Amino acid sequence: MTTSPAPAPAVADEELAPGRPVVFRNGTVLTMDEGHHVLRGGDVLVTGERIAAVGHALAAPAGAVEIDATGGIVMPGMIDTHRHMWQSAMRGYGADWTLTQYFVWNYLQWGKSFRPQDIYAGNLVSAVEAIDAGVTTSVDWSHNLQTTEHAEAALAALREVPGRFVLGYGNIQAAPWEWSAAPEFRDFVSRNFTGSDDMLGFQMAFDVPPASPDFPEKAAFEVARELGAPVTTHAGVWKVTTDEGIRLMHEHGFMTPGTVYVHAASLSTDSYHRIAATGGSASLSTESECSAGQGYPPTWKLRQHGIPVSLSMDTSVWWSGDLFSAMRATLSADRAMEHLEAHARDETVTHHKLRAEQVVSWATRGGAHALGLDSVIGSLEPGKKADIVLIKNDNSPAMVPLLHPYGHVVFQAQRADVHTVMVNGRVVKHDHRLIGAGLARARQAVEQTVEYLQGELGPEAWTEGMHPEIPETRVLNNPYTYTYGGHDAGGQGGGHDAAGQGGGHDAAGQGGGHDAAGQGGGGGAS
Ligand SMILES: [Zn+2]
Repeated sequence: MTTSPAPAPAVADEELAPGRPVVFRNGTVLTMDEGHHVLRGGDVLVTGERIAAVGHALAAPAGAVEIDATGGIVMPGMIDTHRHMWQSAMRGYGADWTLTQYFVWNYLQWGKSFRPQDIYAGNLVSAVEAIDAGVTTSVDWSHNLQTTEHAEAALAALREVPGRFVLGYGNIQAAPWEWSAAPEFRDFVSRNFTGSDDMLGFQMAFDVPPASPDFPEKAAFEVARELGAPVTTHAGVWKVTTDEGIRLMHEHGFMTPGTVYVHAASLSTDSYHRIAATGGSASLSTESECSAGQGYPPTWKLRQHGIPVSLSMDTSVWWSGDLFSAMRATLSADRAMEHLEAHARDETVTHHKLRAEQVVSWATRGGAHALGLDSVIGSLEPGKKADIVLIKNDNSPAMVPLLHPYGHVVFQAQRADVHTVMVNGRVVKHDHRLIGAGLARARQAVEQTVEYLQGELGPEAWTEGMHPEIPETRVLNNPYTYTYGGHDAGGQGGGHDAAGQGGGHDAAGQGGGHDAAGQGGGGGAS
């Protein structure tokens, strides 16, 4: 491998220092305004923290920095309404987990081991990752704040990264009516969240499992009401949070327009009616719902009930921290359900109900609405705060041609195509490079946390945690025989293995040199 100096960016970092006006020139602008107007060859002018103008051939003030958006898409910054940022320190570890295994590892076994500096490490890398991927606002669903020192650490990381955040305060190691009643919790809130700051918001994050009919969570909801803090809650999680929790919240008057129902899967029609009637919104983590098992991603039901939607990625213990993945998964899951339901009626879907445009709207203005920030962010309109993403990659064949910009965002673009990111009028990434985001510090902090956790678990538990047992798959009896002209068939040819044959070679699930189950079955599998 040879190294060569990276080509100089079109605009030097010094020129992008906060304060100078910035104009994005000649891009395909998805305004995501009320009418979803799209401008081809459009410009967006930013002065100070706000968008000053959106249009064609805008006159820029003297000294404005020009960012060439030719061949790219300019869109509002994406908004994630539910991200357990502390868990990014364990990125990818739980790729093969179910929700049950996640609960066991985090709630029962190892979540308690996380020290304040580990919460900081996860939050820091997650916050940097978010802005790098064009997610300009993230709700940190921070449910391992065992002490207010943990909470201070979570907040310190969010303050170090130039993104927009909401701290969703939670603690899975104690009941919500306990931690929310603690004087130090009140003290933490009053010290850190005085007045309104649209760069750093506050929510209370807790769930209402059906365990107790006398609704002890009532006390926590009362604290939230007193603090003026919206509640975000995992709702409709299969066998964990159910219709009963929704009913209790509703009957006690705690379902408000600011309430965010995370997942909102596996709920009854009655619960969806209660959510719709009280004006709350659902935060969908489709990758999560598809593989962890909260319930089928409920977009098609939410549509029937008129419930507003925002998107989220849940946790990097499994999934990707970008919203391109979330949008893609959400559109695919909705369409998959539509096809399945039609096929069950012996019908064919000829026109899709859900469009790429709608999913882009959920990832932008949907998030702003969920957070009560409709008038502040979520679209590119004069007067709004300038949270802007330029998707552009002159080295990628996947950027050509650019015919259907919403479809391009959802099905073609990747986080590597995020060229420039602006938050609150400040350029935090340009020409595919972060500016002042502290990635090196985050890497170092995460390495220390991983080393510490490996020591806490020991090598055996560490490895076991990552590799849950695989249930046995029985290969079905096959009524057909695979015999062609006397040769052994099944696509593998003689001498290799098939499922369950063993014999010195590999078998199902073992990987390695030869192939096994699922490759064609080979003669003799029974
Ligand atoms: Zn979650």
